[in-house]
Amino acid sequence: MEKQELVGMSPASLKAWVLGQGLPAYTAAQLTDWIYRKRVRRFEDMTNLSKAARNTLQTIATLYDVPPVRADRSTDGTIKYLFPALKGGFIEAVYIPEADRATLCVSSQVGCKMGCAFCMTGRMGFKANLSTAEILNQILSIPDVDTLTNVVFMGMGEPMDNLDNVLPALERLTSADGFGWSPKRITVSTIGVLPAMKRFMAESQCHLAISLHTPQPAQRGDWMPSEKAWPIKDTVAWLKTCDFSGQRRLSFEYIVFKGLNDSLKQADYLVALLKGLPCRVNLIRFHTIPNTPFVSPDENTLIKLCDYLNKKGLRTTIRKSRGEDIQAACGLLSTKQENG
Ligand code: SF4
Repeated sequence: MEKQELVGMSPASLKAWVLGQGLPAYTAAQLTDWIYRKRVRRFEDMTNLSKAARNTLQTIATLYDVPPVRADRSTDGTIKYLFPALKGGFIEAVYIPEADRATLCVSSQVGCKMGCAFCMTGRMGFKANLSTAEILNQILSIPDVDTLTNVVFMGMGEPMDNLDNVLPALERLTSADGFGWSPKRITVSTIGVLPAMKRFMAESQCHLAISLHTPQPAQRGDWMPSEKAWPIKDTVAWLKTCDFSGQRRLSFEYIVFKGLNDSLKQADYLVALLKGLPCRVNLIRFHTIPNTPFVSPDENTLIKLCDYLNKKGLRTTIRKSRGEDIQAACGLLSTKQENG
C-alpha cells in the first residue's frame, strides 16, 4: 500500500484521513502544528502524539522531507539551493536576503513548457509538475526558513500550469493553521495563462505578477510562444475587470534587452497598454545567456527608461540583480545536474 503524503494536505482532508485510520481527530491539529509551526517532519520527534499513534503513522504515512543537496553562495549573500525532484531531475530555489527582508524564490515545475527564448529553464523543456509537498519542502527545508519574510513563485516553471498543486501550497502558507502568513507576503508570477489566472484570482489572495517584457504583441510572440494562445491584450483587458483596490498587488515584470525593448517609443506603447490599470512595473536587466541574440542593456538606459515611465505616471522600479555570479539571477535557473 502506498503511504499517504501528509505535507500539503488541507486541514479538512487531513482530519478525514486521520479519522479513517482510527486515530483521534485531534491528531490532525497536532500534525499540522508539528509540520508548519514547529517545522518537524519526523513522526518520532512529535512528542505529544502517543507512541502507538507515532508507530501507526510511520507505517502508513510520509512527511516529505528532502533537504537541498547543494547550496551555492553568491558574494552578495544570495544562496541558490538545489533539490532533487520526486519524479527525477532537479529544481532550484533562491534565497535573497536584504536589509529589511528575506525572500525565497521557489520553483513550481521541473523545467517548463513555455519555451521563452530568453530563459534557461525554458530550454530544458518540461519534465514534471512539482507536488504540493515538493513546493512546500523548498521552504521548510532551507536552514534560513525562520528568517523568510516573502516567497515569490518565480523560479523554474510556470506556476499557472501547475495550479492544482500551487493553490494548496498557497493555502498552507497563508492559513492560520499553516504558516499563517499574510497573502501580501507571497507573489505568484505568470506569463499570462489566462484560464488559470482566473482561477488563481478567485481562489487566492496572493499578489500577481505578469511577465510582460514587451508591449508589442508581434515581438512578444517572437520571444514567448504563449502570446499566441493568450494574447497580452486579452490578459490586460481581463485584468482591468479585476479588483486590485485592496491589498492585492498587480505588477508587470519587464526584462530589458538592449536595443529591442528599451526605447522611449516602446515605453509609450507600454504606458498605453497599461493605462487605467492599478499596477507597478519592475524593470529587470537581462542577464546574458549563451546562443541567443539578446544582450544586456547598460545601466543608463535602464535608469532613463525607469524615469520616463514614472514621469508618464506608470509606477516603475529597477529590480536589483542578485546572485548573478552563481547563476541565480532571473532567467538563469537551469540545473547543471539535469543537463549533465
Ligand atoms: S520565463 Fe518562465 S514561463 Fe518562460 S520558459 Fe522560463 S520559466 Fe517558463
